[in-house]
Amino acid sequence: MGRELDCRMDYAKRICALAAAIERARGAAERTQPVRLLAVSKTRTAAEVQAAYRAGLEDFGENYVQEALAKMTALGDLNVAWHFIGAIQSNKTRDIARHFDWVHTVDRSRIASRLDAAAQRPLNLCIQVNIDAEPNKAGVAPADLPSLIAHVATLPRLRLRGLMAIPRPDANGRASFRRMRQLFNALAPHAGPHWDTLSMGMSADFETAIEEGATIVRIGTAIFGPRLPRPKTGCTP
Ligand SMILES: *Cc1c(COP(=O)(O)O)cnc(C)c1O
Repeated sequence: MGRELDCRMDYAKRICALAAAIERARGAAERTQPVRLLAVSKTRTAAEVQAAYRAGLEDFGENYVQEALAKMTALGDLNVAWHFIGAIQSNKTRDIARHFDWVHTVDRSRIASRLDAAAQRPLNLCIQVNIDAEPNKAGVAPADLPSLIAHVATLPRLRLRGLMAIPRPDANGRASFRRMRQLFNALAPHAGPHWDTLSMGMSADFETAIEEGATIVRIGTAIFGPRLPRPKTGCTP
């Protein structure tokens, strides 16, 4: 985290506790790389994002494009780095490429091409890996990573940063995180000059993820509290 945390604010206490836990996990694993705390703000209000920003956070993750754009408009004067971490529909690639700084969930060539075509500045990108081979789950199979990386390397506006995964909830998370790290290392010689990111670990398992090499942890409930169901938009039957 680049900004100074203000630990006196009530709201910030959880964030400071988290930052301390992140540092402990880094220390225990003798990791030298910094770990970025990405605050997952899906379903949270612009005011909640602003409070977390005031407490010192600057990276925010959103899963739904429309919801995110509304918050960006409301918070336009804040120097936030916005990360898209949701499922990417092809009709949303333009908004994602133009309004976000990072995308963590690219898993097919066609989506990568569309993001590149719409981007007006370098877009930081992680490829999502279906690390536990779950049926119907987003993410590329490890065996298909080399060809997707080769394709992304041809796209000039995409800055390929690394890999992202969400292990199966009932799996041994540590083993899945470790396999991610091994993939990350094995692919490094083919991935270009910006390859430095492993986006893995959430509220329940971020310490394990850091011990196994995470460089970005994506944390929602441990910062903002339990999520309420998303308000319904559009037509309901
Ligand atoms: C919601 C979400 C998170 C945060 O989950 P928490 O358990 O609330 O920390 C992280 N990553 C992705 C992709 C998410 O959708």
